[in-house]
Amino acid sequence: MVTKTTKPIPSKTDKIEAGNLMEEVAEIFENCIQCGMCKSICPVFKILKEERVSARGHAILLSKKILDKALFECTLCKACEQKCPLDLKICDAVRKGREALVLKGKGLKSNEEMITNIRKTGNPFGKNIGDNPEKLYCC
Ligand code: SF4
Ligand code: SF4
Repeated sequence: MVTKTTKPIPSKTDKIEAGNLMEEVAEIFENCIQCGMCKSICPVFKILKEERVSARGHAILLSKKILDKALFECTLCKACEQKCPLDLKICDAVRKGREALVLKGKGLKSNEEMITNIRKTGNPFGKNIGDNPEKLYCC
């Protein structure tokens, strides 16, 4: 059973917070030279073959303060950070970008459903776990 979610409406504080996060993210990438060293190693790019899901794609968009849901594709594996000649904190930027998306009410529907399910039933899948909490760990 999947529990119905209510779309969060961003408050004024949320919008200010999201703006601050975007400033921080743009700062992380202000020295990015778009060399692409991070792109070739990115496992998500290797599968999806789209610039916007690669580490360099995130760097280009976030340096212009553009938020793309492709940020949720990142596995936060940090392989890109190992290759970056400038030692940029790419994963910190991705995390902050995701947070800004959620604060703006543009998070993933699947994540919202999961959070609502956990709050209501204690189970990300929306089933009441009752006296058998180990059922939560399905993998
Ligand atoms: S490796 Fe570093 S400098 Fe090069 S594109 Fe990626 S984030 Fe930018
Ligand atoms: S941390 Fe994200 S962007 Fe960087 S290599 Fe891994 S999946 Fe790609």
